Amino acid sequence: MEKLYALFGCPVHHSLSPLMHNDAFQHMNIAARYHAFHVEPKHLKDAINGVRALGISGLNVTIPHKTAVIPLLDDIDPAARRIGAVNTIVNENGRLIGYNTDGPGYVQALEEEVHIDIKGKRILVIGAGGAARGIYFSLVDKGAKQIDICNRTVSKAKQLIDECDAAVSSAACSLNEAEERLGEYDILINTTSVGMYPHMKEMPLSLANMKEGTVVSDIIYNPLETKWLKEARRRKAIVQNGVGMFVYQGALAFEKWTGAFPDVERMKKIVMEQLRR
Ligand code: NAP
Repeated sequence: MEKLYALFGCPVHHSLSPLMHNDAFQHMNIAARYHAFHVEPKHLKDAINGVRALGISGLNVTIPHKTAVIPLLDDIDPAARRIGAVNTIVNENGRLIGYNTDGPGYVQALEEEVHIDIKGKRILVIGAGGAARGIYFSLVDKGAKQIDICNRTVSKAKQLIDECDAAVSSAACSLNEAEERLGEYDILINTTSVGMYPHMKEMPLSLANMKEGTVVSDIIYNPLETKWLKEARRRKAIVQNGVGMFVYQGALAFEKWTGAFPDVERMKKIVMEQLRR
């Protein structure tokens, strides 16, 4: 029987996940379909019970459900619990297990697209929201030497650092302080929404003090190249956009559901084609 996988979010009409996963199922001859459902926060509990009742094999959850879904599940992977967010759920014979593939997906995309070993690197994370949490802990697990976090609200950056008990050097600072010290870092990562459509003229911080050859990564993928990434390219940085993170988080979810790792280049091509339209 054909299996069903789903996305729960609010809104979901813009999501590229159905396109990406349905193509992978078809390409890999897996009898399954992926469908996006608009689920209002007040209906999340019923929707999750519906997953159990209907035997939906697995799902993704996106904004605004990534934290709210946690108490509704039967078990949470320790890494997802530490991040405090779930984006992937596997239905194991009626038991719903929650995972987070956003952070690991980001890190895998960074390593494979930019050909960089994160171990020993000095990294600046800009932003301290939901996406930053997964990215920060995944960078810690990869053995980065230093991971500083700057944020408009510095207390949120400090709180994230305080939650981490691993032996990594981390400091919280303001956006202005980070701008001054940009030359100290090997990798700069924008995890804020600054520069995203329709606010495409904005940049999270100035790159005036960045050194040439720095890796500059922006997790935004709409537009495909933010003003900040364009500026980084002009200053001879190695740049990466957010498509890789999106595709790899999806590929890791797909692997958790099916046991098979999909063709990420094919997924990337499909997503890019759609975004260019
Ligand atoms: P979030 O939890 O709402 O966090 C937003 C972050 O952006 C916070 O650090 C916030 O600072 C900062 N911010 C927002 N507006 C700002 C402004 N005008 N000036 C300075 N800082 C500002 O959102 P999120 O879920 O982490 O998502 C952040 C971005 O990542 C979005 O653009 C989203 O599309 C993208 N994303 C991409 C992927 C992917 O697969 N590529 C996955 C997830 C998210 P404060 O703490 O001060 O409010």
